[in-house]
Amino acid sequence: MYIIDIDKCYQCKKCADVAPGLFTLIEEGIREIVCRKCRKPNCVEACPEDALETVDGKLKRYTMKCVSCKQCSYACPVGANPSMVLNYRTFPSHINIEKVIKICRKNAVSKEEKIPEDAVKINEIYAVRAAEWK
Ligand code: SF4
Ligand code: SF4
Repeated sequence: MYIIDIDKCYQCKKCADVAPGLFTLIEEGIREIVCRKCRKPNCVEACPEDALETVDGKLKRYTMKCVSCKQCSYACPVGANPSMVLNYRTFPSHINIEKVIKICRKNAVSKEEKIPEDAVKINEIYAVRAAEWK
């Protein structure tokens, strides 16, 4: 299991050429940790393109509809849609994560046997932690 530390990773972007998919994972991770899963989500209401929907209790952004206008970012009271992740593109998350681990100077990604208590699983391969964002 790879653990991505969003607090370290969020501002850097230095590995974007090697692993643009990392930002797709960060988007998922931020929503997993920060989003309060509102019953009447302001973000969905605010989106002029109907690009956001709640699916199985989780917010999903359809990038083929999203025009990166950032209205959902302003509408969310807890910052679960930071403008940095609202690119109209997403990338496959099957990235060369070992290469990212090698080049990352912030040690934002680590490999661990079990998910640590302070991390949240986002799929079978990745979990995220973000002390500042919780
Ligand atoms: S992104 Fe923000 S407004 Fe939208 S459901 Fe999550 S917490 Fe609510
Ligand atoms: S950034 Fe995308 S998802 Fe957010 S309000 Fe604009 S079109 Fe909708």
